[in-house]
Amino acid sequence: MKKIVVIPGDGIGREITDGAVEVLKAVDKKFSLGLEYETHDAGGTAYDKYGEPLPASTLEACKKADAVLFGAVGGTKWDGVDAAHRPERAILGLRKGLGLYANLRPVKVLDALTDNSPLKAELVGGVDLVIVRELVGGIYFGDRCESEIKDGAERAWDLENYSVPEVERITRLAFETARLRRGKLTSVDKANVLATSRLWRRTVERLRAEYADVALNHLYVDNCAMQLAVNPKQFDVIVTGNLFGDILSDEAAVIGGSIGLMPSASIGEQTSLYEPIHGSAPDIAGLNVANPMGTILSAAMLLRYSLRAESAARAIEAAVERTLADGYRTADIYSEGTVKLGTVEITGKIIERL
Ligand code: NAD
Repeated sequence: MKKIVVIPGDGIGREITDGAVEVLKAVDKKFSLGLEYETHDAGGTAYDKYGEPLPASTLEACKKADAVLFGAVGGTKWDGVDAAHRPERAILGLRKGLGLYANLRPVKVLDALTDNSPLKAELVGGVDLVIVRELVGGIYFGDRCESEIKDGAERAWDLENYSVPEVERITRLAFETARLRRGKLTSVDKANVLATSRLWRRTVERLRAEYADVALNHLYVDNCAMQLAVNPKQFDVIVTGNLFGDILSDEAAVIGGSIGLMPSASIGEQTSLYEPIHGSAPDIAGLNVANPMGTILSAAMLLRYSLRAESAARAIEAAVERTLADGYRTADIYSEGTVKLGTVEITGKIIERL
């Protein structure tokens, strides 16, 4: 048996994870994957019940699981809660507790949805890329100073640092991801200015020989940001550090047309976590209008990366693509001439197409 811990969280979290679990159950019937599920609390819901956003029992269950499917946390209800107990702390706690060192964000623009993109259809049709972002190092985790007086002026600083093992670990994952795809890797840095980027580039270059079957190139981050807007089709896999990855992955996400469609994986040494890129959308919670596809596609990633069930993962992705090609939409991606469905109903259409 393979144990999946499901953490619905808050807001639309329950609706979208329910949909994804239904899809997993249907695909399990077809591919005999032997999946079992255990639901745990995190976020505001957990705070209300246990006084903390990430109960120890939830983290322990995640550590023992084969994979974690996460909905979203947060909401205005908990705006007044002190910083240490805010729902979003659960995400940081899971990252740290599970050692989630890499974030994978695929962006695939389906033919049926090219008109939803803010970019011209001819630029985005066929875009199929993955951003691999280092998640536990770099400037977000370096030393910082909130305020000091130097030469008579107040200043603040944040320290960027990367070690060779940190860069090697993320680079290997990116090369391996490229191998499973079209065999092209772009490493993004700012080596013309930053020492950490020069170490990054040297380290990536050193590993090149081990992955001779993958075509590697380097881009400066400013150029990469432009290239994502003018020619996103050139990319297969992009690997970069925490800060650049944070920004580039959000830029790339909007190319797809709706955050409701976008999945992600956070890879750990043992257990990995899969979640849509959006938040808990309290404005539409409980209305049966949330798009479950980001979570359903995250479940497909779970099958691919944690359970190595590539055919089952592809079956889910194909069913989502067929549902969209057949003209079914949730409200966030609805356009004239298509059929608008609720969360439960569109999940049903996806299952029918598995
Ligand atoms: P959000 O992503 O929740 O929502 C932004 C907008 O997108 C809203 O209009 C929402 O209705 C819409 N939207 C989001 N997901 C959708 C879906 N699946 N289908 C259709 N429409 C969708 O971002 P926000 O409003 O800035 O944040 C709301 C809460 O979520 C905050 O408490 C925030 O801290 C939290 N948050 C959590 C996560 C996470 O759990 N990983 C990530 C981001 C934000």
